[in-house]
Amino acid sequence: MDFQLSEEHRMIADLARRFVDDHLMPLEPAILEREASGRPPGLSVAERARIDQVSRELGLWGLDAPTDVGGVDLPAVALVAVNEALGRTITPYTLPPDSPNLRMLMATVTERQREAYLAPYVRGETISAMGISEPGAGSDPARMITRAERDGDDWVLQGRKIWISRAAEADFTIVMAVTRKSEAGGRNGVSAFLVDKGTPGFNVLRRIPMIGGGATYEIALEDCRVEGWKLLGTEGQGFAPMQVRLGTRRCEMAAWSIGMAQRALEMMVEFAPQRVTFGQPLSERQAIQWWVADAATRIHAARLMTYDCAWKLDQGRDVRQEISMIKAYATEMAWEVVDRAMQCFGAMGMTRELPLHLMANRLRTMRIFDGPTEVHKWVVARNLLGTRA
Ligand SMILES: Cc1cc2nc3c(=O)[nH]c(=O)nc-3n(C[C@H](O)[C@H](O)[C@H](O)COP(=O)(O)OP(=O)(O)OC[C@H]3O[C@@H](n4cnc5c(N)ncnc54)[C@H](O)[C@@H]3O)c2cc1C
Repeated sequence: MDFQLSEEHRMIADLARRFVDDHLMPLEPAILEREASGRPPGLSVAERARIDQVSRELGLWGLDAPTDVGGVDLPAVALVAVNEALGRTITPYTLPPDSPNLRMLMATVTERQREAYLAPYVRGETISAMGISEPGAGSDPARMITRAERDGDDWVLQGRKIWISRAAEADFTIVMAVTRKSEAGGRNGVSAFLVDKGTPGFNVLRRIPMIGGGATYEIALEDCRVEGWKLLGTEGQGFAPMQVRLGTRRCEMAAWSIGMAQRALEMMVEFAPQRVTFGQPLSERQAIQWWVADAATRIHAARLMTYDCAWKLDQGRDVRQEISMIKAYATEMAWEVVDRAMQCFGAMGMTRELPLHLMANRLRTMRIFDGPTEVHKWVVARNLLGTRA
């Protein structure tokens, strides 16, 4: 087992770090100011266009996309370093194209879908969303009841989706729906569909503001007609590529968490020697020393676990267990480290002038989406205890 990045991959990781330091970090004061004045803490159109241009010119687009559609085809191990770098900043920016749906498309597309969806996605010309969750099926997507029925060459979708990120803006949403009634409620019988923005019957019902300034959407699928060739993958076998997608996101989330925790630790390490209380710097207090030591230890553990998982993924091994472990461990670890950094800073840690509260908000949602912590622990435990059935 060797997690040493190759020379080429190390250069890309260094490039990503420099991109974050030189182009995303300088935007943080504006992001904090927007958030403190009640506006969404996102990038303006002009800022995004400029950042897109820079990241594209640096060759940071399509890092894990196949080379035949213009990507760099980096292994998962190299992406851990890139995502850790991105996790360090509160400036919300994803290097195009967003990896999880990319991976799902790569695992499923036909030639026609490759041309129409995958290639423009890799070029960064389109954005996508993913519709799995429903009012009655969140952690347990096998309970989904959105249906797709064949009608001639088309499919007609009926149902409701909720908590769907980017659904109103996305050029296309991958919608998961039950196609085989007899198997509804199980893992088989669920299929994936490419639903274009503006398709009649794909109705965005409401924007749901989430903590941290982001939003998700509730969608009604009402006689939503999708052409037959937009079925993604094999009919009734949508769960496996969906898991590829979720696994990719969970690896990213672990790496982002490590980046956030590392930055919070560095902030504590810089601040603690400077702040004197009762005649001694905070860095002399065992309580604070233990926060620092625990944070460093747990970050180290999370980083090794994440590289191990990514390495096994690159070897083509089954990493479902590791993915659940790193998703739960890294997000909870970073949540605690950021909370301790906020505590260490005292009142300053309670302001909207430091990046810590935005990290905390982000981590708070990350402990829920792509599977709540308790569900991932339950998955690990039931595999060990043999209680899966
Ligand atoms: C910011 C954000 C963005 C999201 N974006 C998307 C998106 O783009 N697309 C999409 O499809 N979905 C999205 N989701 C939905 C997300 O994936 C679900 O919220 C998540 O899977 C949990 O489902 P739920 O909210 O229905 O909670 P439930 O399934 O109702 O669970 C509630 C709580 O019960 C506990 N629990 C549940 N099951 C177990 C168990 N077996 N053992 C122990 N405890 C358990 C957990 O503590 C859990 O938090 C998003 C959610 C958030 C917060």
